[in-house]
Amino acid sequence: MDLGLAGRVVIVTGGTSGIGLASARVFLEEGADVAICGRDAARLERVRMDLAIEFGVERVLAARCDVTKAADADAFAQAVQAWRGRADVLVNNAGQGRMSTFATTTDEQWREELDLKYFSQIYPIRAFLPMLEASDAAAIVAVNSLLAYQPEPYMVCTSSARAGVQSLLKSLATEFAGRIRVNSVVLGLIESGQWERRFEARDDKSQSRDAWIAALAKSKHIPFGRLGKPEEVARAVTFLSSPKVAYITGASLEISGGVSRYI
Ligand code: NDP
Repeated sequence: MDLGLAGRVVIVTGGTSGIGLASARVFLEEGADVAICGRDAARLERVRMDLAIEFGVERVLAARCDVTKAADADAFAQAVQAWRGRADVLVNNAGQGRMSTFATTTDEQWREELDLKYFSQIYPIRAFLPMLEASDAAAIVAVNSLLAYQPEPYMVCTSSARAGVQSLLKSLATEFAGRIRVNSVVLGLIESGQWERRFEARDDKSQSRDAWIAALAKSKHIPFGRLGKPEEVARAVTFLSSPKVAYITGASLEISGGVSRYI
């Protein structure tokens, strides 16, 4: 199916690693021009060069931006405005999870987590809103977690924040209806930078990567017996961004290898 994304301008926050980078690649393969952001300037430049070599320097914009800072999000939007003068799709992907129980989460950590989860949506949406409003096929896709619906006791703070974000997205789907579609992907465990860091920090350093991932999948009761790949999420993100699925809004698509236990 032709997704109708050729010539569109797509923004991917947190586009320098994992799911964001895989999504940027798939959008570029589909013919869209892509603007990515991240906080680490050196990694941003490395990724920009890789994508520019593969897809053409004129089709990629990379901007340093911490999505939890309003001024950064505004500057990113201004850079896109100057670059292409439009934005059709915003993928709010930047972020990470926090492992903690209620007992181990300090007030400061609660505030940090709520700040990251909410404002990584609010600031980019506000900054890109005028350009999205001007598009004839505007879509926002949020990358969220299954924890929003199925909280885990060792991720209390993150799970709670993610549930709130799903509520926010539902409200926005209604408020923006007919102008901007708002959908989300809710993820199980996906092999990415986050899990790479946890693998590096594993207790038993003699354990191979494959063995560590297999044990993780088993301990999480993932029916597929493996973690998902960033590309498998990226394909779903491009699908939800496509003007061809113009009647889908307020939806959340689970990508988890079948790990959810609710109906
Ligand atoms: P990665 O660590 O591989 O990538 C995270 C990306 O986000 C990087 O580009 C990082 O760049 C960027 N980023 C992080 N914080 C900020 C910030 N404040 N401002 C701008 N950019 C930021 O992780 P994933 O690909 O796994 O994660 C992508 C999203 O998916 C996250 O929101 C994560 O919470 C969510 N998710 C992932 C799951 C998984 O199992 N992998 C499960 C459920 C949800 P930099 O550090 O340079 O800023």
